[in-house]
Amino acid sequence: MQSLQQLLDFDRLHVWHPYAALPNDLPVFAVESARGVRIQLMDGRSLIDGISSWWTCIHGYSHPRLTQAAHAQIDRMSHVMFGGLTHQPAVDLSRKLIAMTPDALQQVFFCDSGSVAVEVAMKMAVQYWHNCGLPQKQGFLTIRNGYHGDTFAAMSVCDPENGMHHLFRQIVTQQYFAASPQSGFDRDWQPQDIDSFAALLAEHHDRIAAAIFEPVVQNAGGMRFYHPEYVREAKALCEKYQVLLILDEIATGFGRTGKMFACEHAEICPDILCVGKALSGGFTSLAATLTTRKISETFAAGTAGVFMHGPTFMANPLACAVALENLTLLESYDWQAQIRSIESQLKADLEPCRSLPAVKDVRVLGAIGVVELHHPVDMKAIQPRFVEEGVWLRPFGRLIYTMPPYIIQPSELTAITTAIYKIVAEI
Ligand SMILES: *Cc1c(COP(=O)(O)O)cnc(C)c1O
Repeated sequence: MQSLQQLLDFDRLHVWHPYAALPNDLPVFAVESARGVRIQLMDGRSLIDGISSWWTCIHGYSHPRLTQAAHAQIDRMSHVMFGGLTHQPAVDLSRKLIAMTPDALQQVFFCDSGSVAVEVAMKMAVQYWHNCGLPQKQGFLTIRNGYHGDTFAAMSVCDPENGMHHLFRQIVTQQYFAASPQSGFDRDWQPQDIDSFAALLAEHHDRIAAAIFEPVVQNAGGMRFYHPEYVREAKALCEKYQVLLILDEIATGFGRTGKMFACEHAEICPDILCVGKALSGGFTSLAATLTTRKISETFAAGTAGVFMHGPTFMANPLACAVALENLTLLESYDWQAQIRSIESQLKADLEPCRSLPAVKDVRVLGAIGVVELHHPVDMKAIQPRFVEEGVWLRPFGRLIYTMPPYIIQPSELTAITTAIYKIVAEI
């Protein structure tokens, strides 16, 4: 067997990591295994995961029920094409998603990643208006500080400044960007917050297929929490101007903000909903785009007669079987109480960070805790510091945040918040 150093050397020279260069001069740690909230490194160290592998493994790693569901499905088949064939895991998971999401969402499109779920949603919106005889409605309205993925259409609706994609500005479709909401989640609603969104719709609605944004929490675009009234008013404006509403709940879905879906804070239902990340409990890549009958029923009579999208691995049975078990598990315990207790501990534990000189803001919503700094972190230095403290976090820009697995114990969460305080205090 090759040595750990050989593995890391080869990785550093040949294997691309997310938003990394080659050779990679940022620290990378080799993982042996993972179970519960713990990541076991090959060098013998064990880390408490404070970000659920990018917000996916809400029930921790190697959960026996998910592993069992995967084994059972592998013994039948791990994959079969979805063109002309169907299977129990896809149908059962669709039934569950339809039952969990707001009532009007009845139609499910499975795909492999969040970015593709967003592409599918955007294509669906454009083709819908084509079906309705309004083919000029092809643009999208979004709000600044959003993040929707790394593929080209998804990039076009990411924040143009901090969306990590400004290099591609020339070849990415120009969309309409409203100012991001300033009213905090539990602060007073400032009615002028919606003005920019309303003005763009009033002027350009005949060219806009849909508005797309992350409800209540903007995640990778800045970890910002905002007022549900914004979502409510945006929904009403979309209706007024005949523009569809796509909500991207790839990060917020499945309980993270304290509601099953963040749109429930605003008590509205989108025309199209994107889910991913926590859908399979972090077990495997899976995402979905849901929509209403009102939208789906226009496709048969449209020019194409069908929706023009169909991934090779659509509704992969292994992924669907595990996702079904993950959602069944989520419904089997009082997850709201669990999120509330994580929320109150994060509020109490992170509050002291506010008085540290490097800190600009501390905020908590559901199982999301954010410490915003005045200046960007030095990833090369800070990542190994967290590992030394026995926790796994992945800060970006000026943000150190935690989005732990829902199964985390109070003492484990204390280890994370203690490490955050200690390391931010060193800055
Ligand atoms: C992560 C994320 C995506 C992209 O999902 P991938 O699976 O990385 O393609 C899209 N939208 C939001 C809100 C996300 O958090």
